[in-house]
Amino acid sequence: MVLYILRHKIVIPCVFNKLTGFYCPGCGAARATNALIHLKILKAFKSNAAYCILMPLIIFYFLARLTEYLFTGENKIDKAIPKKLLYGIFIGLMVFGFLRNIPFVPFKYLAP
Ligand SMILES: [Zn+2]
Repeated sequence: MVLYILRHKIVIPCVFNKLTGFYCPGCGAARATNALIHLKILKAFKSNAAYCILMPLIIFYFLARLTEYLFTGENKIDKAIPKKLLYGIFIGLMVFGFLRNIPFVPFKYLAP
């Protein structure tokens, strides 16, 4: 299924974009994922820069959770992540979502 989607470049439409015409912080993430799989880093950044920046953190988080669960069966990582970091990421994504809808240089390059 995933290979079929990647091979035929099926893009999942964004409901927020379809309803409002604006780009959300996640718009272009599917194209960025496809580009990252094909090691086209620049194309991935053009599709969704925030996604590309956060992806290593997300992968690290899931690998750390998996490792901790397999060896200890506990979940101490979630409690160890500072709430200020999560709020900062959330606010950063909201700012990114706002800036990528401004149709002027340099913000228009943030649009997918
Ligand atoms: Zn979107």
